Amino acid sequence: MSRVAPLDLLDLDASLTDEERQIRAVVRQVVDDRVRPHVAGWYERGSAPVRELATEFGRLGLLGMHLTDYGCAGSSAVAYGLACLELEAGDSGVRSLVSVQGSLAMFAIWRYGGEEQKQRWLPAMAAGEVIGCFGLTEPDHGSDPSSMRTRARRDGDDWVLTGGKMWITNAPVADVAVVWAQTDEGVRGFVVPMDTPGVTATEIRNKMSLRASSTGEVVLDDVRLPADARLPLAIGLKAPLSCLTEARQGIAWGSLGAARDCLQTAIDYAGSRTQFGRPIAGFQLTQAKLADMAVELQKGYLLALHLARLADAGTLRPEQVSVGKLNNVREALGIARQCRTILGANGVSGEYPVLRHANNLESVLTYEGTSEIHQLVIGQKLTGLSAFA
Ligand SMILES: Cc1cc2nc3c(=O)[nH]c(=O)nc-3n(C[C@H](O)[C@H](O)[C@H](O)COP(=O)(O)OP(=O)(O)OC[C@H]3O[C@@H](n4cnc5c(N)ncnc54)[C@H](O)[C@@H]3O)c2cc1C
Repeated sequence: MSRVAPLDLLDLDASLTDEERQIRAVVRQVVDDRVRPHVAGWYERGSAPVRELATEFGRLGLLGMHLTDYGCAGSSAVAYGLACLELEAGDSGVRSLVSVQGSLAMFAIWRYGGEEQKQRWLPAMAAGEVIGCFGLTEPDHGSDPSSMRTRARRDGDDWVLTGGKMWITNAPVADVAVVWAQTDEGVRGFVVPMDTPGVTATEIRNKMSLRASSTGEVVLDDVRLPADARLPLAIGLKAPLSCLTEARQGIAWGSLGAARDCLQTAIDYAGSRTQFGRPIAGFQLTQAKLADMAVELQKGYLLALHLARLADAGTLRPEQVSVGKLNNVREALGIARQCRTILGANGVSGEYPVLRHANNLESVLTYEGTSEIHQLVIGQKLTGLSAFA
C-alpha cells in the first residue's frame, strides 16, 4: 500500500512557490550532508563546530536571510520559516545558531543600528565570518527582563558596562554581542565586540539539552565602549522584545522540523519492528498515536504558514506570534515524547534522534519566552488584563 510522508498529508506543498520549495530543498540537502551524519556525536560530546557551520550557512545565504540589503538575501518569511524547519529537523541547536545570528543579533543591528554599525557588522555576519550573540537574560532575571541589573553609565563620551548575562547562545564562540543594559534613560542596546577588555564568556557545562549548541555566561566588568557602540534607535525594553518576536517566528517553524523528524523516525521504526508476529505499525494503538501526531503536525504547519503570510503582508502582531510559539513548541515536544514510546528502549538510545529532539525541545519551550509567558500574553489580549506586568 502506498505511504505518504507526515507533512505531505494535506498537500500543503501546493501552497508554496517554486522559490520556497527550492530554498527548502537546498537547506534539506545541507542538513543531510553536514548535520545528520555528525550531530549525534556533537550532542554526545556537548560541542558543535559552530564556526564551520556558520561559514557554510553564510555561503548559502541562510544568515539573516529574511533581512534586506547589507549582504542579506531578503527572502520571504515563509522561505525563512521553511529553512528553520529543515535546520531543526537536523537539530534544534543548529537552528538556534541561525536564529540567534539572524533574528536576534543581526536583526537588532539591522532594525536599530546606525548606518556605520550596519555597514561594519551585517555583511560579515551574513557571510558567517562574524558570529553574533544576544544578551538579554541574566542569572536572576529571565522572564522579567525589565528588572535587569546590567548597567551602562556615561563616562565622558564613552559608555561603561557592568553586569552579567546568562544562558547566551553562541556567546563562547561569538565575535560580537548585542547587550541590553539599564541606563539613566531606560533600557538601551549596545554592540560589544567580544575582545573588548573586561568581557569574558564561559561555556555553560552539563546542559542536558541543546548540547549541539554553544551556550555561555557573559561577564561585563567595567567594559569601556565608544559612544557609537549604542544602537541609536533602540529605545526601551520594546526594542529587545521586538527582536524576540522576530526570532519566535523561526521557532514556531523550526520546532515542527524536530517533530517531523521524530514522527518519520517512529513511522519507519514501527514499520520494521515486529512484535507478536507483526509490525508494530499494524497495531491500532500505534496507528492512533501516529495519526494524532500527524494531525498536530499539519495543524502546526498551517499555523506557521498563516503567521508567515501575515508577516510577509506586514500585519503580524506579537500575540499572534505567541500563539505560534506556544502551540508549535508544546505540540512538537508532545510528539517527540510520544514517538519515543513507539521506539521502546531504542527510544532512549542516541542511535536514534528522538530523545535528542525531545531534550532539545525542553530548552525551546523555555527560551524566547516560556510557555507560561506566552499564555499570559494571549490571556492579556483576551481579557484586557495583564497578569504579569
Ligand atoms: C539553551 C538556552 C539558550 C538560551 N539562549 C539565550 C540567548 O541567546 N539570549 C538570552 O538573552 N537568553 C537566552 N536563554 C534564556 C531564556 O530566554 C530564559 O531561560 C527564559 O526567558 C526564562 O527565564 P529563566 O530561565 O530565568 O526562568 P524564570 O523567568 O525564572 O521562570 C521560571 C518559571 O517561572 C515561570 N514564571 C515566571 N514569571 C511568571 C509569571 N509572571 N507568571 C507565571 N509563571 C511565571 C516561568 O514560565 C518558568 O516556568 C536561553 C536559555 C536556554 C535554556
